[in-house]
Amino acid sequence: MNLTTPELKIAQTAARQAASVCMTVYDSLIEAAAKAGREPVTIADYASQAIINATLKVAFPDDAIMGEEHGSEFSRVLTDSQRQQVTDFVSKALDQNLTENDVKTILDNTDGSSGRMWIIDPIDGTKGFLGKRAYAIAIALKDENGLSLGVLGCPNLDLEHPGDQRGEGILFYAVRGQGAYREPLMGGEMFKIHTTDSSDEFHVATSYESAHNDETLFNQIIENVPIAYRNITRLDSQAKYGLVAAGCVTSYFRIVPEPDFHERIWDHAAGAIIVQEAGGIVSDFAGNPLDFNAGETLAKNRGAVASSKPIHPLLIEAIAKTNWQGEK
Ligand code: AMP
Ligand code: MG
Repeated sequence: MNLTTPELKIAQTAARQAASVCMTVYDSLIEAAAKAGREPVTIADYASQAIINATLKVAFPDDAIMGEEHGSEFSRVLTDSQRQQVTDFVSKALDQNLTENDVKTILDNTDGSSGRMWIIDPIDGTKGFLGKRAYAIAIALKDENGLSLGVLGCPNLDLEHPGDQRGEGILFYAVRGQGAYREPLMGGEMFKIHTTDSSDEFHVATSYESAHNDETLFNQIIENVPIAYRNITRLDSQAKYGLVAAGCVTSYFRIVPEPDFHERIWDHAAGAIIVQEAGGIVSDFAGNPLDFNAGETLAKNRGAVASSKPIHPLLIEAIAKTNWQGEK
């Protein structure tokens, strides 16, 4: 696989089409529908998931898809008029005349026998999306050798002012062994990106939502890193991985306060390969690689750390000095 591989081109197209619908919804009045569990969900989550699934399934019918949104919830959680809105968005994006049932079928058509699996977060950072902050459309591909490709669409992101949401947006992408790149979200010049080389700067990105990260532990870890200069950028979604990959911050790390909550693979897969291909290291809090083969969650890992090469070992040492594995 290289940068002209159809897998990359199609994932980029899917991310752009999905991002375009998300941006339309973002700019209009949006209401969250309650989904089972803790996460809010909007019509844009379902439209984005359906557009991505349909685009990937036409091109790669034998690949499996693991995404955050499913047909059963589409039918159960949304009102009739919301389902119709989703159907209209998906029909328009795909240039087809679809029914609600077609959209449900697309959302449920996720099995595949090729051994490859696409891992998708149609809107990563839904709380950021609802709060008119940052969010991302995340698409990754996994094969028998691990993650092979990642695409991260970050609407409105501006690398100079992350969080402002007034930029043209960025598409980050990487193919295994081919490096990591960024270009304007809706197309334009591509740039190779690289994590920072410096061992005397330490800039961290972390979740905007304090419930997504154990902040007490987070602050202890920062204190334990033996570098004086610290700067913290708060941002929703995997855009944080993009900031690490592009060298805007040195590091992103998180650990969920609840010990029985495991991170979902679609919250990390695309970002992880982009950071690795940009020269960085991605691991859990023990320093072990993230295991994307344990189902829907990173069940074998606790915590996630994405960092430039010089800072990663310092962070793992700083984490080891805390009681992160201890009883809460
Ligand atoms: P972030 O925008 O980086 O804070 O992370 C967003 C992701 O965190 C979402 O896509 C969820 O999958 C995940 N998430 C949602 N609720 C929680 C929670 N209570 N604790 C940890 N992670 C969560
Ligand atoms: Mg997510």
